[in-house]
Amino acid sequence: MCECPRVHLYEVEFKLAGMVVVPTHKNCGSALGPKQAEQLQKDLVKSWGFEPDE
Ligand SMILES: [Zn+2]
Repeated sequence: MCECPRVHLYEVEFKLAGMVVVPTHKNCGSALGPKQAEQLQKDLVKSWGFEPDE
């Protein structure tokens, strides 16, 4: 599992593993951890021009 401190949105690749899509960090080739996936989702929302509700 990826343990890089900061994963940038553009360094993430979505790979298909069986029936699920797994966000994968291109730099290290590992799948993102739950916290990184959460951060990625926030970054995605921001990149679309929406601010998270929190
Ligand atoms: Zn990584």
